[in-house]
Amino acid sequence: MPPRNSSVEQRALRLIYDAGEEGLLQSELWKLLDVSSREGSRLAKKFEEKGRIVRDKVINDGRWTYKLVSKNEPVTLDSVRGCPCLICSEVEKCFRGGTQDPVYCLLLTAWIDPRIETDA
Ligand code: SF4
Repeated sequence: MPPRNSSVEQRALRLIYDAGEEGLLQSELWKLLDVSSREGSRLAKKFEEKGRIVRDKVINDGRWTYKLVSKNEPVTLDSVRGCPCLICSEVEKCFRGGTQDPVYCLLLTAWIDPRIETDA
């Protein structure tokens, strides 16, 4: 079982991500997570330092606070366009340690970084 902190962090990042471009006020996040403002502020600073979120200083109900906005972009179909796995006949046998292994697949490697010479 993962440590509680990791679970709280994952939930926090998910809530901030789900808030989209509008972001989420710090105080709202702490209520949703049921953590203290001190613990919440520590998390927000940590996420900002790791480049996961932006903290925008805003006034809410006459008091300064932070709005937290995720820096993660939503995944789009463009991000997987041309991926060889989408049309690969071996996909069901392909996993770590399987008959096919994505770590050693030359087609996938060439798609991820065309600068790498693979002869694929
Ligand atoms: S990693 Fe390679 S073998 Fe595996 S599904 Fe993708 S293209 Fe096929």
